[in-house]
Amino acid sequence: MKYQKGDFLYEGKAKKIYSVKGHPQWVWMEFKDDLTAFNAKKRGAFEGKGRLNLLIANKVFEFLKQEGVKVHWVEALLDETAAICQKVDIIPLEVVVRNWLAGSTAKRLGFKEGTVLEEPLVELYYKKDELDDPFINEDQALLLGAATREEIGELKKQALKVNQLLLSFFQKACLQLVDFKLEFGRSSASLMLADEITPDSCRLWDIKTKERLDKDRFRRDWGRVKESYAEIWSRLESI
Ligand code: UDP
Repeated sequence: MKYQKGDFLYEGKAKKIYSVKGHPQWVWMEFKDDLTAFNAKKRGAFEGKGRLNLLIANKVFEFLKQEGVKVHWVEALLDETAAICQKVDIIPLEVVVRNWLAGSTAKRLGFKEGTVLEEPLVELYYKKDELDDPFINEDQALLLGAATREEIGELKKQALKVNQLLLSFFQKACLQLVDFKLEFGRSSASLMLADEITPDSCRLWDIKTKERLDKDRFRRDWGRVKESYAEIWSRLESI
């Protein structure tokens, strides 16, 4: 085997993190079959979900790497349903980019789901389960010590760049990138894109029919969750 899984470090809602023997700068990120929503108040799973999300994340991160975006992704280990990633300190901010309004912001501001935005909207959420990840502004992020003003500027700039790249990437698969959430990490003083980019963290609609193919199918009990994740992978596989 090329790499060996080391000590267990952390278990999140959809992934388990281990060290990598002999490589202290890396982590072993295992994708689970679990699905959670509403801060884990709703739980589910389907067989093969971890593998589908790993394949999708791998395709996305390899594309972003090729385009010059700094990402934590080193390589996917398909037989292990895992990826080798750079070890980073995660910045406790969720950076959400929206191209069409849906979900929490559509509801809060009274817009119809699917309202197109002239400019992409960038939002910050404080990553804190106990507080249900509240929506915050930049000054509140500073108050919380989550990042410096320079870092927040850089996060937003990177998020918009990733958005431009991913809009056309998904378009090639006839998928509309409605919105998505990014997380960033610090590693030896530089910022890099971390965590995952999968149908768990993006809203992806069929461009023509507007059929929802992402985690909203699970959140809203629409069924065909597994089939939708498989559909996304089958479209991305061939681009
Ligand atoms: N999102 C996520 N994790 C979260 C919250 C949101 O990955 O903890 C993603 C979500 O899948 C969607 C986008 O970020 O693609 C915007 O989500 P929104 O704020 O509308 O919240 P939600 O409707 O998920 O409550």
